Amino acid sequence: MFEIIEQLETKYKGKDLELCLKAYDFAKEAHVNQKRASGEDYFIHPCTVAKILVSLGLDAATIAAAFLHDVIEDTPVSEGDIKKEFGEEVLELVVGVTKLDKIEFHSQEEEQAENFRKLFVAMAKDIRVIIIKLADRLHNMRSLNFLSKERQLRMARETLEIYAPLAGRLGISQVKCELEDLCLKYVEPEFYEYLVQNIDERLKETETMVEQVIGEIRTLLKESNISAEVFGRRKHLYSIYRKMKERGKTFDQIYDFVAIRIIVDSIDQCYEILGKIHHIWKPVPGRIKDYIATPKPNMYRSLHTTVMTNYGRVFEIQIRTFEMNHAAEYGIAAHWKYKEKNDGGDLDTRLSWIREVMEWQGGLKDSREFLNSLKGDLYNSEVLVFTPKGDVISLVKGATPLDFAYNIHSEVGNRTVGAKVNSKMVPLNTELQVGDVVEILTSQNSKGPSWDWLKIVKSSSTRVKIRQFFKREMKEENARTGKSMLENEIKRRGYTVSDLLNDESFLVLSQKMAFSNMEEMYASIGYGAVSVNQVIMKLIDYFRKNQPTEEITKFVNVTKRQNGGVIVKGMSNILVRFAGCCNPVPGDEVIGFVSRGRGVAIHRADCPNIKVAEKERLIEASWADRNSAVYNAEIRVIGSSQMEILTIVAAAVAQLKLDIVSTNGRTDSRSGRVTVNFNIRLNGRNELDTLINKLKQESKIIDVFRTANR
Ligand code: MN
Repeated sequence: MFEIIEQLETKYKGKDLELCLKAYDFAKEAHVNQKRASGEDYFIHPCTVAKILVSLGLDAATIAAAFLHDVIEDTPVSEGDIKKEFGEEVLELVVGVTKLDKIEFHSQEEEQAENFRKLFVAMAKDIRVIIIKLADRLHNMRSLNFLSKERQLRMARETLEIYAPLAGRLGISQVKCELEDLCLKYVEPEFYEYLVQNIDERLKETETMVEQVIGEIRTLLKESNISAEVFGRRKHLYSIYRKMKERGKTFDQIYDFVAIRIIVDSIDQCYEILGKIHHIWKPVPGRIKDYIATPKPNMYRSLHTTVMTNYGRVFEIQIRTFEMNHAAEYGIAAHWKYKEKNDGGDLDTRLSWIREVMEWQGGLKDSREFLNSLKGDLYNSEVLVFTPKGDVISLVKGATPLDFAYNIHSEVGNRTVGAKVNSKMVPLNTELQVGDVVEILTSQNSKGPSWDWLKIVKSSSTRVKIRQFFKREMKEENARTGKSMLENEIKRRGYTVSDLLNDESFLVLSQKMAFSNMEEMYASIGYGAVSVNQVIMKLIDYFRKNQPTEEITKFVNVTKRQNGGVIVKGMSNILVRFAGCCNPVPGDEVIGFVSRGRGVAIHRADCPNIKVAEKERLIEASWADRNSAVYNAEIRVIGSSQMEILTIVAAAVAQLKLDIVSTNGRTDSRSGRVTVNFNIRLNGRNELDTLINKLKQESKIIDVFRTANR
């Protein structure tokens, strides 16, 4: 704690220093006798938060607010006290990071959502609020091991979904990377361990090679008379984790654990040294990125290239100026740290995204909807495209021309009738690529967005804007659409409308979902405020409770015979079961029986049970392909326990109705890792992908992929 005073004294002067020290004393007094979960004095926490912010270079008001950030929430000190002692500016910052009073909420979910909405409003007013909050979260994550398992997971997930991406958006990569690695430790503990162990080994292997490459670059710089800093930087664990999970790579397929960074004085030198490096080492095609000419939306600027060195290994090399490096490390915080160099225009660009969020969040009544939309937008990475005039627009990855149109303005979106990408007409569901020039064709006669657009668009803010249009303009039409959506779904599931929807069942439903009448329920389904499934599941629940299902046939487990082999007339994706009474096999004449709530049962056409069944519940069925091709494929699964792997894979295989033909496994005695090969029988390539993707989501499974020999 004395350390922080020393730091304050070297970095702040005069009135600024006075303010910081006064806040230090005040907070120390307010938190006296309070302890953290770790058993330390509570005051350690605000001090560390302040320390993080000092190192990021924030101004004195922010540091003062950091010391005081928990006093309103956790001590008897009032807003009035802080205003009196520290003035309006510090008070606003402290209030901005203070959570809402717990008593106001019905659920934890609602509380979380409302607090985020409040935080966003505060940060739109003053961006320093979120920087304090990020420092607060960073220290809380560092000391997370003192909390219960459940809270650890909840905090880590929230950090991963919201705070880390926020830090990324604001360009504060230091904080973002540390947060992500801390989260990984709690969310995927085994994976984390695996990475830590293996990376250390790998780094040792490549150490001398990295030194040699750096040495050669230094020589190159010297010959060119460029003074520069050159060093190797280990990539953070989370980025390696993402590569493995998202792109389906194995640890051995990832080579760039270390990036080599070259920091020079001028932009000219950046390009000069890039050219010289490409002269001695061949660049890997598609890996040269010029973020100086086209910065990332969070204003990140740098040249990246990956080259094949003559040591037989590829290396990523990042080249940038000192200024760009500061901006990349400190992001928005650089505005305070290096304020003499910044003109404010930079800050403005960085904040444009927050303004956009503020624009669409006003239209959302439900704060949970706000939170979900926000998570969606934060999680997706970005793609940069251009307007015909050359303005850069940042969209979420996978965005379509419609997302582009709504990003320009809701009115443009609502009147869209077509789009051109790079001067060619394209369908509205085209996925935009980096650098595309997008032009939107609008018409005054357009009737507005269509329902299909909700499925096409990628960004949640676009979806919100389209829904707003429907909500506003199309009440009656919503109700009509909603009604037919619900009725179709009821039929598709093998019920009749009168089975499920009547006065009593609606009464029970309306208590759960707060519809005042059926019209309102239909309209809500129609514009997508609630999903058909949400409604129908509650109706089916009620129906089942009040009307026991008749056991007309016994059902067999169809694990071994893919039910996809049967086609039922007029229906797709329905639950099909084979009746146990007559046990049909491919080639038999078959007929479907629509059972209540249990999908369609397939009987032989000559089954005695069918002869006595209600005629209106029978439905035509046939075999899709009598000789459907079956083939085997081998996958390899890596984890830490053979039992775990077998259990998880067996469950997934059973759920997908596939077969395991054979397995064999081995344990690496050195690392303790277990590798098991499974020979799986399937009907198609899709099934294999589904299985692999499913297994990838299991935290106990470290890696899974198809082996090369089959
Ligand atoms: Mn705190």
